[in-house]
Amino acid sequence: MTSIADTADLAPFARPGEPEYVRATVAYQLAVTVDPVGAFVARSVAAVVRAVGVACSARLPIQVTTTGHAMGRGAPVSGSLLLRPEIEAPVQVDVDACTARVPAGKRWQDVVNEAAPHGLAALHGSSPTVGVIGFLLGGGVSFYGRRFGVSSNFVRSLTVVLADGQIVTASSSEHAELFWALRGGGGGFGIVVEAEIDLVPIAEIITGAIMWDAAHAMEIAPRWQRWAATAPDAVTTSLRLLNLPPVDGVPPEITDKQVLALDGAVIASTTADLRAAQEIADGLLAPLRAVATPLIDTWAVAKPRELPLTHMDPQEPIPLRSDTALLREFDDEGWRTFLRAAGAGSGTTLLSVELRQLGGAFATPSQNGGVLDHIDAAYLYWSGGLMTGPFEHTTPVDLEYIRDATLSYRTGLTVPTWVERHDLPQQRTYDDETLAAVERIRKQVDPEGLFAGDISPIRD
Ligand SMILES: Cc1cc2nc3c(=O)[nH]c(=O)nc-3n(C[C@H](O)[C@H](O)[C@H](O)COP(=O)(O)OP(=O)(O)OC[C@H]3O[C@@H](n4cnc5c(N)ncnc54)[C@H](O)[C@@H]3O)c2cc1C
Repeated sequence: MTSIADTADLAPFARPGEPEYVRATVAYQLAVTVDPVGAFVARSVAAVVRAVGVACSARLPIQVTTTGHAMGRGAPVSGSLLLRPEIEAPVQVDVDACTARVPAGKRWQDVVNEAAPHGLAALHGSSPTVGVIGFLLGGGVSFYGRRFGVSSNFVRSLTVVLADGQIVTASSSEHAELFWALRGGGGGFGIVVEAEIDLVPIAEIITGAIMWDAAHAMEIAPRWQRWAATAPDAVTTSLRLLNLPPVDGVPPEITDKQVLALDGAVIASTTADLRAAQEIADGLLAPLRAVATPLIDTWAVAKPRELPLTHMDPQEPIPLRSDTALLREFDDEGWRTFLRAAGAGSGTTLLSVELRQLGGAFATPSQNGGVLDHIDAAYLYWSGGLMTGPFEHTTPVDLEYIRDATLSYRTGLTVPTWVERHDLPQQRTYDDETLAAVERIRKQVDPEGLFAGDISPIRD
């Protein structure tokens, strides 16, 4: 049967097989089929408005993508139009106001490049290639986060094209309810074409990674936990079990075996703070270096522009399957169960099993924050593996194994940016009352559900 999608004039959306379609459907996440009815790279705000009008006339839903890091988090895109906003405008830093205007389509590296020469830093995540808007809409967990909190608290305004084609700027003084819901509410409100964000002055950081054979995990992980319980908020770290293949850029000492990695950043806001920052880093690392000889140890003083490389996130597209949850503190038995499930000492096929350190400002509600203004948990857990060849079978099994082992430590909540799939259980972010408030705002701005396919799984 011929559908409206087959016959409607969808220009400027390109149809499958056309070069523009290929360009607009490129995604970092290769494990998901990207087969929308039509796809379009919008290079101006006017082009975004036009695309929304076409979708309304054709009565087809629109889904938005920037990098496709989270392709698969919303509903499948088949049956939708896919819009990739890449607004042709630079990132503009206002040094006096300590802010940046970031057009849709920019990656965090673009902001870091503009802010760093002025001694300013952005609250970006671990990967330089993640999209700024997609990150901020989901909350955003940064290696500066224990000092400053959830990154979306540092958004001043978001300019959005709504389902009726209106362009509105949402801030604490205009469209304040929408501004609240956009920041962590799970998407599906409209197409954000610009974000204005606060930057923070950071002169230097101490950053790097120290790695040991994973056999030392049970000795080192609980020590890290004891240190984290009283760690100052200038430092944020991540503890991971890594299982990396021998590829360019990965030191040979840490490939083809499972390793325990501890990385992160200590902030020195001014050069006068550097000595205190060094003491914090030494307080963490010296006792751990004494436990076992590391395979590599790169922690050193650096400039903030170097932080996007610390975590060694893969920058090329990969087929990934992952799981995430917010966790409470482990007791000794919890560590044993978790590390065993993560394969410490015995091996796993998962690329990475991670615990991000929370606490500090992450735990503090923000007066001007969005719906996700703080995170109440000890750790943000994430693990992921490949979905190619034999891993297509082992990755889901290994993820399930850790899920079972961590069940009694899960708070039942998660952070929207870290959710990769729409069909996982236990991906709720809010209580029912908050969900209802978000839904009411979504209904006001998108009564027909034009953007409904973009809603992240913020409920069970
Ligand atoms: C290697 C890697 C490292 C990561 N590290 C961190 C980290 O340290 N901290 C953290 O918090 N998260 C991290 N993430 C998660 C990442 O922040 C989220 O997946 C984020 O949502 C990706 O945004 P994106 O725009 O790049 O991805 P996309 O898949 O393009 O977009 C994700 C969603 O955001 C929405 N969206 C994107 N652009 C727009 C727009 N212009 N208007 C409206 N909606 C839009 C859409 O709903 C889309 O489905 C990481 C992810 C990866 C793959």
